[in-house]
Amino acid sequence: MSTVQPGSLSVVATPIGHRDDISARAIATLRAADVIAAEDTRHSRPLLLHHNIDTPLVALHEHNEREAVDGLVRRMLAGQSVALISDAGTPLVSDPGFRLVRAARAAGIRCVPLPGACAAIAALSVAGLPSDRFVFEGFLPPKAAARRSRLQELAGEPRTLIFYESSHRVAESLADMREVFGGAREAVLARELTKMFETVIGEPLAELAARVAGDPDQQRGECVLLVTGRGEETDARLAEGQRIFALLREELPPAKAAKLAAAITGAPRKSLYEAS
Ligand code: SAM
Repeated sequence: MSTVQPGSLSVVATPIGHRDDISARAIATLRAADVIAAEDTRHSRPLLLHHNIDTPLVALHEHNEREAVDGLVRRMLAGQSVALISDAGTPLVSDPGFRLVRAARAAGIRCVPLPGACAAIAALSVAGLPSDRFVFEGFLPPKAAARRSRLQELAGEPRTLIFYESSHRVAESLADMREVFGGAREAVLARELTKMFETVIGEPLAELAARVAGDPDQQRGECVLLVTGRGEETDARLAEGQRIFALLREELPPAKAAKLAAAITGAPRKSLYEAS
């Protein structure tokens, strides 16, 4: 089979840090394509040059995807081969490309995956959290109220949760997770994967939130957050938290009793307080 088929769309994963994390087939495909649709052409050029790829580039980003799609679909229907890349990792995973792939498939164009790096999967592969079932949640809402309400929706989720987070919100998000999921749930911060300062830290949410809040170095670079799902152990902790909360409430105001019961048992403070 030739590297690219005329009139097809190749969806090509590129590295998330280390520039050699790209497959030989991906490089051959990018060289052979008639055009590469890239999220940010200036960002991708150094990587392409490093791999001796001089295929013409067109921009396809979230602000022009609607308009750019028509032109690219027309080119493929006329027999040209298009390769889609994003700034890092797998296109469409918290990145542009969904509209293009959808339109291409609707037009009967063959879409070919060229698999490779994806930060969520790379993080899961070293987190040591249950990996048989997991949920990819992408980015949490940036505003606190919306973020907390999204986390609240996920509080009962039994599968491992995976989030992308920007470094300047990672401390806030961890604090909210501790509040909503309880401080005892196991969590992992995977930072700067495949890069010089790669760091993977796994500990209970209370400790991880405190560590990141107190260390500006842990608030740098690119981050994936993973949190273990709610399990039987979590339910037992909640029951214990409620028992302690009921005892403390006899002597203390509800907010203070919930705070102490959460700190003692690792149960989520919010659920103790709300249950009162
Ligand atoms: N398409 C990409 C993928 O397949 O992973 C994700 C693109 S999304 C716009 C960028 C986010 O992915 C970052 O904010 C961060 O949460 C995560 N990310 C990307 N590269 C990473 C890395 N080297 N280490 C940790 N997280 C990374």
